[in-house]
Amino acid sequence: MKKIALTLLLATNLIIYAQDNTPPNIILMIGDGMGLTQISAGMYANNNNTVLEEFSYVGLSKTYAANQLITDSAASGTAMATGVKTYNGVLGIDPKNIQHKSILEICHELGYATGLLATSSIVHATPASFYAKVLSRDMYEEIALQLSQHQVDLFVGGGKKFFEDREDGRNLKKEMSGYEFVNSINDFKKSTAKKIGFLTYDKEPPSLIGGREPALDELTSLSLEKMSALGKPFFMMVEGSQIDWGGHDNDASYVISEFKEFDAAIRKVLEFAKADGNTLVIVTADHETGGMAISGGTIEKGRIKAKFTTGGHSAAMVPVFSYGPNSNVFSGIYENTAIFNKMQATVTRK
Ligand code: MG
Ligand code: ZN
Repeated sequence: MKKIALTLLLATNLIIYAQDNTPPNIILMIGDGMGLTQISAGMYANNNNTVLEEFSYVGLSKTYAANQLITDSAASGTAMATGVKTYNGVLGIDPKNIQHKSILEICHELGYATGLLATSSIVHATPASFYAKVLSRDMYEEIALQLSQHQVDLFVGGGKKFFEDREDGRNLKKEMSGYEFVNSINDFKKSTAKKIGFLTYDKEPPSLIGGREPALDELTSLSLEKMSALGKPFFMMVEGSQIDWGGHDNDASYVISEFKEFDAAIRKVLEFAKADGNTLVIVTADHETGGMAISGGTIEKGRIKAKFTTGGHSAAMVPVFSYGPNSNVFSGIYENTAIFNKMQATVTRK
């Protein structure tokens, strides 16, 4: 029985590839700190609805780091981006001090366009996992320098200061030839530049409740237009960064508001993928934050009562939702490093 199912699956994949020889786009969406409770709370608070219900497959990812049961975003980001477990705090380098290529870098070498969007600064651990190789996630100026030396086609996030107001006096925005830097959503919208950077805030963007603009769903839609206009397959990582910060604050309203915005961004991506037909979408988390539990509430009023067991992260497995070509391989239970392997297999067809 199992064998037959497997053969059918393989055959289906072969058909997908045979029909369309274009390598698929990959859009990886990471809700930082977005465990199952954060998703459940956001869903119940949102008329019992999340776009995640429309995904084809669900899996579970084991998030622990090389040296600790409870991971941080750097180790877990590195695992998903490069396929190796490393020490907490480290980006792109394994415990033997070997640097690893990220899926973004591999896609770039294969001729893909690449993009990064975050609601934190763009040099924060999660987006940095996709381009930086540093022993400490706190080396923001070095991380910005490494981003400036990459050929990422589009990036959106905070952290302008680390590019233009640096200890070494360099202005990376001036050094990054070929890039247009925009300062507003309108200029972002209007720009037809092939390489574009939108540094949204000087340091870390505020929370949504604290007034963060522009909305991640709008940024995501505009970025999808720009990425697809480049006429190549693309890899894009979109992070709902602050679900984690709500968890650290043990603040359910913070968690839920950030989840809702992320959910709206996922909706834009899924709509794009459905229309495109050759886009793999993966939505997951790097870890759970807050040891959050739903302790009460109502469906009718969408009210959630939550309790938290820690101000840090927890070691619970996190869900992985997938849609599109090769999405079936994301079902099951696996290490967070397998997310890299499965994406790599999708782009290299190994
Ligand atoms: Mg993050
Ligand atoms: Zn955190």
